[in-house]
Amino acid sequence: MGDSDSERVQLRIGPWIVRSNRQRTCSVYEVVEVSGARRCGCDMCLNFDRHRKRGEALTPPAVNLLAELGVDPGKEAETVHLGPDQEGHLYEWWYHAIGEVVDGPEPKEPVALGEGLSVMVKDGRAVAHEGFENFPLIEVSFFRHLPWALTTPEPQ
Ligand SMILES: [Zn+2]
Repeated sequence: MGDSDSERVQLRIGPWIVRSNRQRTCSVYEVVEVSGARRCGCDMCLNFDRHRKRGEALTPPAVNLLAELGVDPGKEAETVHLGPDQEGHLYEWWYHAIGEVVDGPEPKEPVALGEGLSVMVKDGRAVAHEGFENFPLIEVSFFRHLPWALTTPEPQ
């Protein structure tokens, strides 16, 4: 496998510019069996998983963006329930793609993408799926409030 220019795409995600290898990223996701939320299986993660399956976690533009990166939106690396507040349950979840950040601000705060979804991008490999070991990775984290959608008691 060569690392030819034809395999590499440059993309804008909010204020960040990334260069990524879509084909290689796709081939890793093809063998990933389970998302972070399903792997954990706690009520907080299953609530997120319910919304994700219904297409309520990501917006259509965000799904398109992930497709351009070669990322499977159903296979996030990790989901974190940041807690309930007045707006619902705040979640952070992230994906990896093979590549690097080439420009943009320090990743200190998520940036609004519209429709309640925010994003933050950095070079990073926290809880990366098996298969990503030998590549440089970008970490694309999303943030969003979601309501409680399970019949189990809602954590307060
Ligand atoms: Zn969990």
